[in-house]
Amino acid sequence: MSEPLLFEISTPGRTAFTLPQLDVPATPLPDGYVRSELPLPEVSELDLVRHFTRLSQLNYCIDTNFYPLGSCTMKYNPKVNEKAASIEGLIQVHPLQPEETLQGSLALMYQLQEALKEIAGFAGVSLQPAAGAHGELTGVLMMRAYHRSRGQAQRRKILIPDSAHGTNPASSAMAGFTVVQLPSDSRGNVDLVALKQACDDTVAGLMLTNPNTLGLFEEHVLEVCETVHACGGLMYGDGANLNALLGIARPGDLGFDVMHFNLHKTFSTPHGGGGPGSGPVGVSERLVPFLPGPIVAREGDRFYLMTPEKSIGRVRSFFGNYGMFVRAYTYIRMHGPEGLRSVAEHAVLNANYLKALISPHFPVAVERTCMHEFVVKGDVPGTDVRALDVAKRLIDYGFHPPTYYFPLIVREALMIEPTETESKRTLDAFARAIATIVEEARTNPALLHEAPHTTPVSRLDEVKAARNPILCYRG
Ligand SMILES: *Cc1c(COP(=O)(O)O)cnc(C)c1O
Repeated sequence: MSEPLLFEISTPGRTAFTLPQLDVPATPLPDGYVRSELPLPEVSELDLVRHFTRLSQLNYCIDTNFYPLGSCTMKYNPKVNEKAASIEGLIQVHPLQPEETLQGSLALMYQLQEALKEIAGFAGVSLQPAAGAHGELTGVLMMRAYHRSRGQAQRRKILIPDSAHGTNPASSAMAGFTVVQLPSDSRGNVDLVALKQACDDTVAGLMLTNPNTLGLFEEHVLEVCETVHACGGLMYGDGANLNALLGIARPGDLGFDVMHFNLHKTFSTPHGGGGPGSGPVGVSERLVPFLPGPIVAREGDRFYLMTPEKSIGRVRSFFGNYGMFVRAYTYIRMHGPEGLRSVAEHAVLNANYLKALISPHFPVAVERTCMHEFVVKGDVPGTDVRALDVAKRLIDYGFHPPTYYFPLIVREALMIEPTETESKRTLDAFARAIATIVEEARTNPALLHEAPHTTPVSRLDEVKAARNPILCYRG
């Protein structure tokens, strides 16, 4: 950063605040509470405002530009959601208030539960989990409780296709299951022969990311569900990619027993650096008694909190990430059933349009009509330019890089998810940047190896940055 840091412009005695006149007797603070040696910068209010405003501008966000980060559904977060979430009556409530005084908030949660049930075709929903991966852990813990309640504790294996999201095996392992990986066939579907061989009475279930991480709809989904059910297993659906299916197909109807929603992806609540997530779980009839509580139930006009009889217990303090419920509820009600269907249709249309523009430059991993995202091989043959270089160079053109080197089953993967909220004009501009970068790779590859050139810091050692971040000012 070329601008001076607060510590560098610190001037003794300068303050960024003005306190009101003291109208009570001054009393010294108790010993040990004030650290007089704490080296805080002393700056004016304007210095402070500029510092934080500059910092905020270094943060790439969906409100400033295109963010095609595959698997993350970085769609626009409509501002009406924020307006609803700041309604006085909703922000001033406390989860420990008596239920009679929380009826409005509980009604909103109840209606959100009902909407999610209807959207995905489930018999019950709990809003508790705080994110997608947390929803997965909740789901597999329910699967474990279900099998144990039937005297089938020997079901300790979970089958996971190699095209699944990385959180699926992690959640299964965390819940104490053994993960068995299934291969994909040449069309990117689950290999049915391998599936049939793996199914026996030690299988607790299968976790299917659908659409999978190649952005492809599982063509044999009904057969996969039937096969797993026939051996006594349960079907877990990773619903993080529900954006492709809204109003078109319901996972519950397809045969899934449990699925998590990502309110922060599909239903436009802010995420990434922008806010907490929310990962409600939906379940079929037989898992309803195991849902984590509390969930909101209704008797006539009264809403109350209850925990199902065989519940796996709480997975989150209080009600979950309540502010996200308000935003997702607003989004669902603003769209209505037709609007939600059109979200999915446009998400899929945008992805296929962009795929058509980009595939002349980068070959698509599996050439099929994609759902809401697609994966290409992002290196430039005949040069030493790799997908990572292309991703970094996109930053110079003002675009957030796509997800790269994921899924692991595609060499030099770039995973691109445009979302429905982007215009044709933006998609065209992104495709033009890709074409220019491929041209640069042939004429001036060093430009790409050293990219980005327009950011305060260029290539980071990403492992070191994550493991050993330097978060304090070092003069
Ligand atoms: C994002 C995502 C997850 C994990 O969700 P988080 O909210 O980030 O924990 C799981 N599966 C898929 C397919 C995803 O895209």
